[in-house]
Amino acid sequence: MNNADLVIIGGGPAGLAAAVAARKSGVQDILILERDNELGGILNQCIHNGFGLHTFKEELTGPEYAARFIDQVRELDIAYKLNTMVLDLAADKTVTAMNKTDGLFQLHPKAVILAMGCRERPRGALNIPGYRPAGIFTAGTAQRLVNMEGYLPGRRVVILGSGDIGLIMARRMTLEGAKVLCVAELMPYSGGLKRNIVQCLDDFGIPLKLSHTVVDIQGKERVTGITLAQVENGRPIPGTEEHYDCDTLLLSCGLLPENELSRAAGVELSPVTGGPAVNESLETNLPGVFAAGNVLHVHDLVDYVSEEAAAAGTHAAAFILGSEPPAGRILPVHCTNGVRYTVPTTIRPDCAGDTVTLRFRVGGVYKNKKIAVYCGESCIYSRKRPVLAPGEMETVRLKADLLRSGDAVTVTLEEG
Ligand SMILES: Cc1cc2nc3c(=O)[nH]c(=O)nc-3n(C[C@H](O)[C@H](O)[C@H](O)COP(=O)(O)OP(=O)(O)OC[C@H]3O[C@@H](n4cnc5c(N)ncnc54)[C@H](O)[C@@H]3O)c2cc1C
Repeated sequence: MNNADLVIIGGGPAGLAAAVAARKSGVQDILILERDNELGGILNQCIHNGFGLHTFKEELTGPEYAARFIDQVRELDIAYKLNTMVLDLAADKTVTAMNKTDGLFQLHPKAVILAMGCRERPRGALNIPGYRPAGIFTAGTAQRLVNMEGYLPGRRVVILGSGDIGLIMARRMTLEGAKVLCVAELMPYSGGLKRNIVQCLDDFGIPLKLSHTVVDIQGKERVTGITLAQVENGRPIPGTEEHYDCDTLLLSCGLLPENELSRAAGVELSPVTGGPAVNESLETNLPGVFAAGNVLHVHDLVDYVSEEAAAAGTHAAAFILGSEPPAGRILPVHCTNGVRYTVPTTIRPDCAGDTVTLRFRVGGVYKNKKIAVYCGESCIYSRKRPVLAPGEMETVRLKADLLRSGDAVTVTLEEG
């Protein structure tokens, strides 16, 4: 097995954009390892439009957006192996993988980019009481069945969870002839983008029941109905139960970054995002191991995945080619007052170039606030935001010059 200087685990939008950027930055020997039988990741099943508005100023479908990057990978002659499962990553960056033609093999790259995406939280992780009949699917599985395999998972549907996948599947199932009775959401606000609530629920008259959850599933062979109840402080309120006759329950209750490989390698993970803690170069605590895309933190827009992954590819190239500046000072990034996490969690001002991009999400819905960033005592960034919600990722670009003094960076919300 030929070795590669850069191994990228995952051939979704993050892996593809990272590969293209690393090649353009001068790395010749790149190998993408993808367990599926095609490149493109989750985008292959997202046949709705709405992708690429920022990157290409066009509204593309998921497969069309992926194709733009797959074409570049082919034009740049970047090597990839499909149907290839990465089984292990060691702290010294040894990658162990397997496929039918090569069998079990090991690679010893100079750098690795983690781009394994995320998976959906299954029923087993949700503690919903009731029987375990057929007819309960995660929304992403239902999306794959409808869009790629050509099956309709059910005809009368309740969806639990109002993240973007749940909202998109409410519209998709309706367009395919199913009756979507409602989308129930445990929180008092939706976890999805505003535009998806309007385009996927409001336009089709599908009710969104906030502060509601499923308290019972009926049916032994197949789902015959579910019971919803209103919740307060996360607990069902007795007497508020409503019964729905349905044959299908779709679960869209959160995404978990796929970090089993990272954890086994000794990559430090954030308890909030479930993704690696990284510095401004998107490098983990293991030198030469970088991360980008949904494996790092769950994104709502693929454009930001591609942008972030391109930065990881450029930094991995600098690591391989030895052109990284010396690390110098390390500033921790703290978050307070409603800011749940930040990516990155540390910044090395000497390695930051002209700007540092900070991405974060808030923990609740906030109105008329100001995002403020401090370096030490000095406010180095401030922007008014009429509404902030957990479903929308925020991006802040800081001038690296302003990080020259101070010993920590703090991201916070203040009165607008
Ligand atoms: C249902 C849905 C709807 C969406 N709608 C929109 C939208 O309208 N607009 C928008 O901009 N964005 C949308 N997104 C978001 C966007 O699609 C994702 O943010 C993006 O696909 C994430 O890219 P990724 O490369 O990080 O992960 P993925 O696309 O998940 O790719 C990860 C890849 O890694 C591979 N992999 C994982 N582990 C291994 C391993 N051990 N070995 C080898 N390969 C491995 C996987 O097979 C996969 O191909 C949507 C996402 C979903 C799920």
